[in-house]
Amino acid sequence: MVLFPTYNRFPLSVQSATGAEITDINGKTYVDFGSGIGVCNLGHCHPIVQKAVEKQLHLYWHTSNLYENPIQSEVAAQITTHSHGDYVFFCNSGAEANEAAIKLARKVTGKETIITFQQSFHGRTFATMAATGQEKVREGFGPMLEKFSYATFNDLASVEQLIDENTAAVMLEVVQGEGGVHPADHEFIEGVATLCKKNNILLIVDEIQTGIGRTGKKFGFEHYQIEPDIFTLAKGLGNGLPVGAMVAKAAYKDHFGPGSHGSTFGGNPLAMASANAVLQIVFEDAFLDEVEAKASYLQEKLEKEIAPLASVQAIRQKGMMVGIDCDKSVAPIVTQLLEKGLLVLSAGDTVVRLLPPLIVTEEEIDEAIQLLKVVLATF
Ligand code: PLP
Repeated sequence: MVLFPTYNRFPLSVQSATGAEITDINGKTYVDFGSGIGVCNLGHCHPIVQKAVEKQLHLYWHTSNLYENPIQSEVAAQITTHSHGDYVFFCNSGAEANEAAIKLARKVTGKETIITFQQSFHGRTFATMAATGQEKVREGFGPMLEKFSYATFNDLASVEQLIDENTAAVMLEVVQGEGGVHPADHEFIEGVATLCKKNNILLIVDEIQTGIGRTGKKFGFEHYQIEPDIFTLAKGLGNGLPVGAMVAKAAYKDHFGPGSHGSTFGGNPLAMASANAVLQIVFEDAFLDEVEAKASYLQEKLEKEIAPLASVQAIRQKGMMVGIDCDKSVAPIVTQLLEKGLLVLSAGDTVVRLLPPLIVTEEEIDEAIQLLKVVLATF
């Protein structure tokens, strides 16, 4: 092993994967309720996405952003047609999308401070690490990028207290994913949006985990009466190929002129071919109706079978994002479930997080619930 030990890896080596099923190198199969941390929203090797990428693979892979890239324009048009956003900048990851958002917010406003939230997660680069409201993420990395301040999630007064004449933006997740699956209250989010408008502050919504159908809507902010000035995407956008995007209103276009920002690989044609196919599927109303129906089915099962278990304190859910809050550290549960053939995630110490692919079947949900019940009952 000559890899930096930056990840605690489970003893699972993947051989292949289709839909919600992963097969390891020994032929053992697993139901995947993690989707590669909320990435493979359409399941593994979705045939339409695969075909689109295969087609592009035989055309060209990379030419740089020095030349026109029609697929980038197509993907951007899909995003802007299906949202209030007007302009898109493509990059390769969630952290990069948030970096772009932070840079743009400072440039547009000429102000410096970005208000984020305790328990938020925005990435691992210097700006996004500073934006992340979790001390453990920043530990040992020296002085952080300045001018980030942290309000309390779902507490409007705490945001108001931090606003001053140097506030450029408020940045938030509509459901804090890594922080334990905490959905924002309507009053809170809508109150933040009003505060931002009143004080000429930009509202940035980090949709990296909540976007692309994950919560049952195209973007998580659609659950609320808000229109963020900037929002960011990654994870599900490429369904497994690395891509991130920052989407913003037309008024900010000229602040990101030639030479102001860039990425060699941003908007890579293979990633764009994947994203183009993904969005054609996910942005269909019928597809999203089905996601909501499956999320309701999952919710019913969780309420009936899992909520009554003694070790379960609370279950929080927004569409296909679920947090099962337990009374102790869930690390052993994740391992036991893996041994039994169910892949889940944790979020923080005590939360089992489920991010099943949006194409999961009711049978796969039933199977997952049964395994969760067995393991949680003896926890
Ligand atoms: N923002 C949110 C809400 C996330 O959940 C994540 C990753 O988990 C990121 C940003 C960082 O994305 P990436 O790991 O692609 O840089």
